[in-house]
Amino acid sequence: MTTAPAYDLLLTGGTVLDPAQGIDGRKDIAFKNGLVAEVSDRIDPSNATSSLDVTGKLVTPGLIDIHGHFYHGGNQTAVHPDEICLSSGTTTGIDAGSAGFINYEAMRDYVFPAHRTRLLAFLHVSGVGLANNKLLGGGLHDMRMIDVDQTSDAIKGNPGFCFGVKVRMHINAVAAWNAHEAMRSARAVADQSGSRLMVHVSGTPIPLPDILEFMGPGDICTHAFNGHPENMLDRNFKIRPEVQAAADRGVIMDVAHAGVHCDVEVVKHALEQGLPPTTISTDIHNPPPDRTVYKMNDLVSKFYAMGMTLPDAIAASTSTPANVLGLDDTLGSLAPGMCGDAAVFDLREGNFKWIDSAGNVQDGKVRLDTFLTVRGGQIAWREGRLMEMGEC
Ligand SMILES: [Zn+2]
Repeated sequence: MTTAPAYDLLLTGGTVLDPAQGIDGRKDIAFKNGLVAEVSDRIDPSNATSSLDVTGKLVTPGLIDIHGHFYHGGNQTAVHPDEICLSSGTTTGIDAGSAGFINYEAMRDYVFPAHRTRLLAFLHVSGVGLANNKLLGGGLHDMRMIDVDQTSDAIKGNPGFCFGVKVRMHINAVAAWNAHEAMRSARAVADQSGSRLMVHVSGTPIPLPDILEFMGPGDICTHAFNGHPENMLDRNFKIRPEVQAAADRGVIMDVAHAGVHCDVEVVKHALEQGLPPTTISTDIHNPPPDRTVYKMNDLVSKFYAMGMTLPDAIAASTSTPANVLGLDDTLGSLAPGMCGDAAVFDLREGNFKWIDSAGNVQDGKVRLDTFLTVRGGQIAWREGRLMEMGEC
């Protein structure tokens, strides 16, 4: 009599790096019914329907990108989620305000379900999200675009999908004389809906300390390491006291690199002074032709090259964002029972260069090249291509 294999998928021989469990070493890992089923030193391949030898490769929990733009088709700058995320080992993408209360339902019901990547959202405090960015540069030129009650109701009505409210404090998006009111409104939405505030703090129309005053524990300061005026450093490259105070009270310092929102010199000064990014994220979008926006695997590699340890860089892109979103009971770790989301990388050695908008070049000797992405216990990306469901 033959019995069905215990596991659907088995990865053998990889170096598992799972900061949440404190694992950094050779382990086999098995998946069953969409979840992680077992992590141990040896698992017999005959116990699995499909098994793959990943000896010498790095195995991590699926990466979580806490700031991207995934409303593909609903927004001109939004990317194709599966192509971008799964190709970079990212299994969860958080849309950072591409939609507001007026237009999020098509994103939730039609765009996101068409992808295998787990896609969640922050709603923009502007009713239409980023829909009018191309014409107006942002959504808050008219304060009538804000409806605190309707935005708050939309967030409250979508637990498990909407995680908070986004507001863009950028000179092109909101005038200085409206910026405080926009912050007050966004704060009110977060409080009314019992959720989080995510604030774009790059190129701000008002001083950064004025913005940080509105932010408390668990709120997300996104583009925190930008090099524009009103960045986190003072003129002597010291972390401004208001920024340190915000970090000390639990405000999340998120990267959201994009093309123009992360400066290598700012990061280096912050790292030296003991303020690493809480979360590494992309702000992935379709940029203008002269800009480069990196995917998650490149950003983890870049921050590793800048001096973060690999476990710290992986924690900042897996367990920590899961924790920030209150999803650490299901995501961000490869402990048995967690969602079966994993990434397998080749640690490619060579001479790599990552650029930023200030023209700084960061050199590195190691790049994480995505070999395989497992989503819900099934292979979703392998060696350069998206896989169909059920394909191995
Ligand atoms: Zn963004």
